[in-house]
Amino acid sequence: MSNTIAVIKGDGIGPEIMDATLRVLDALGCNLDYEFVEAGLVAFEQHGTLIPAASLETIARHRVALKGPLTTPIGGGFSSINVQLRRHFDLYANLRPAISFPGTRSRYDNVDILTVRENTEGAYLSEGQSLSEDGQTALASIRTTRKGSERIIRYAFELARSKGRKKVTAVHKANIIKTSSGLFLDVAREVAQEYPEIEFEEMIVDNACMQLVMNPHQFDVIVTTNLFGDIISDLCAGLVGGLGLAPGANIGSDAAIFEAVHGSAPDIAGKNVANPCALLLAAADMLDYLDMAEKASRIRIAIRAVLESSRDRVTPDMGGSGTTDSFADALVAYC
Ligand code: NAD
Repeated sequence: MSNTIAVIKGDGIGPEIMDATLRVLDALGCNLDYEFVEAGLVAFEQHGTLIPAASLETIARHRVALKGPLTTPIGGGFSSINVQLRRHFDLYANLRPAISFPGTRSRYDNVDILTVRENTEGAYLSEGQSLSEDGQTALASIRTTRKGSERIIRYAFELARSKGRKKVTAVHKANIIKTSSGLFLDVAREVAQEYPEIEFEEMIVDNACMQLVMNPHQFDVIVTTNLFGDIISDLCAGLVGGLGLAPGANIGSDAAIFEAVHGSAPDIAGKNVANPCALLLAAADMLDYLDMAEKASRIRIAIRAVLESSRDRVTPDMGGSGTTDSFADALVAYC
């Protein structure tokens, strides 16, 4: 039986890395059908909206989407399409793994940290942002609910349990942001008691940043609020060689959208030098989600093998002398 997934090619480098990724999925024999949906600049030019209703309907129907990066136009009151998608589908869990790969320029080996970021609350989606009448003072609120905190923390513990992870660290700033971050920490302490086999640790966000840089191997699963999760997960990506290898998954009860953490990289778009690995690793996480764990692990093994043995075929950001196409060719040949 085949699964159909919605595919957003994206803009900038999106179409190049999506083509490379779909070539690898097809070479693996994943038996996936793709329904391509419009979003971003292409959709705006044709329909006057960054994310047409028909695209949302297609994603809702298939429940799983693989998404290339989308450019957010500057000015004009455009809100990020990613934020719109998260809101529309209530994609409350943002998973951002940071895993070491061979041959990458990084300070540490054997890093394997999974950041579970709350994706729908916090400082990003605060209603009531406003400027004072004289335009000199910006006012914004942080929205944290018990329900929102509980579902992300429970999600992190369930994930840790299902993947045999040993420890969950709740990252917070409850010492200063006492009400919102304090609520998150209270709920984390409560939920942790239901998972006695998993070690629970709490850490203030500034200390967590320092500890990550000094000794990342002490971390396993990190669960945190929206803004801290955004920053911490980029820090973790930096520990393993940068955004070229950083996938992200946005998961809700009714839909899941898998994407690279990086953006549309307009500076290198159309030059055939974009690294397809982050999107490919997102596709691997998607295969895990679709119960195709064996194919998912073959993608990760292929990336490891090509990074180790074929430097001339990998893209310049990984220190290679190849192109997006040659990288994809090497991965397809390995599969
Ligand atoms: P970016 O991630 O697109 O690029 C940052 C730097 O990393 C650039 O030098 C770029 O060349 C490089 N880079 C990124 N991906 C790469 C890859 N796969 N291979 C090689 N090099 C890569 O960040 P930006 O320039 O701040 O943002 C560009 C646009 O992307 C903006 O409109 C932003 O809103 C959007 N964006 C979209 C997403 C998304 O759709 N998920 C995420 C972040 C940014």
